[in-house]
Amino acid sequence: MLKRPFNFSAGPAALPEAVLQRAADEMLDWHGSGMSVMEMSHRGKEFISIYEAAERDLRELLAVPSQFRILFMQGGGLGENAVVPMNLSRGGAVDVVVTGSWSKKSLKEAQRYCNAQAAASNEVSRHTALPATSQWRLRSNAAYVHVCSNETIDGVEMHTLPDLAALGCAAPLVVDASSHILSRSVDWSRVGLLFAGAQKNIGPAGVTIVIVREDLIGHALAICPSAFDYQCVADNQSMYNTPPTYGIYIAGLVFQWLKAEGGVAEMDRRAQAKADLLYHTLDHSGGFYANRVAHDARSRMNVPFFLADETLNDAFLAGAKEAGLLQLKGHKSVGGMRASIYNAMPLEGVQALVNYMQDFARRHG
Ligand code: PMP
Repeated sequence: MLKRPFNFSAGPAALPEAVLQRAADEMLDWHGSGMSVMEMSHRGKEFISIYEAAERDLRELLAVPSQFRILFMQGGGLGENAVVPMNLSRGGAVDVVVTGSWSKKSLKEAQRYCNAQAAASNEVSRHTALPATSQWRLRSNAAYVHVCSNETIDGVEMHTLPDLAALGCAAPLVVDASSHILSRSVDWSRVGLLFAGAQKNIGPAGVTIVIVREDLIGHALAICPSAFDYQCVADNQSMYNTPPTYGIYIAGLVFQWLKAEGGVAEMDRRAQAKADLLYHTLDHSGGFYANRVAHDARSRMNVPFFLADETLNDAFLAGAKEAGLLQLKGHKSVGGMRASIYNAMPLEGVQALVNYMQDFARRHG
């Protein structure tokens, strides 16, 4: 097979080639069933076995404790921005830590359902540094505290989850981990609920993973649609309505691939190596390239960067495409470039990118 280009899309993002190949092999006839997974009833034994394996593997990969339920939902991260307050807020106070574009959106959406406020914001730094936890203004009556642990657009990552108890806050922590789930382990003692859209580090768009502590289930507002009431979803093994079956199947293949590659500990190690290589290149480019995020808040998954001479942007992108390096254009709200280097991106891909960047800088410096 021809070597495929390296795809740096922020999402939907590259999937492991082995997963795509296996899905292709199984497309017309899954395991002798005579059916494509797309053609199976979600209540049949074939799909139930796919679903159960996916859930089991995800629980194992992230060491999810038994008092947490894993739900496979729909509606994406933006859907959860409404679904979480509808399920957890009880219409009361909710504190949101604003660290970038996505948590800002979460705050705005939550305000439609409850008394949501920013507990802190890094807007003054244009989302390039994390507000210190000591500065967070957390309300004692908050139903939960929301953070986005990796801001996909701004390239800002919390390298550890906040310990709310240590801050004197008894509220559960809600984490939007959409763009770095499965790149590191999760300290579940600090988490009440964690959600993630699948289309970055898991599988195709359309699947939303929600991992929620059992005691937080069963308090939905009356206006919450049944299909988004965690109680209803949990009671029906994520099959109250027809789940995104094919997306769950591909997610399951990714989980098997992750296990075979060495699990989350290995992804963590690789993420560090890839990020170190790319940031080192940016920081040692003599100012040709720059990443503006504070060093202790730099994302290992999404690396925005700028060329000092922005008139070279189009040439940079065109040359990258020719070199087999795709989708490096930055988000329109930030500009410049962005390299997303999720689990499926091999170190070899980042090496190819930095080789291209250095060569481009030599030619245009
Ligand atoms: N949260 C984060 C951190 C994201 O990166 C994204 C998508 N880029 C979203 C939420 C929104 O996800 P969706 O488009 O699936 O609603």
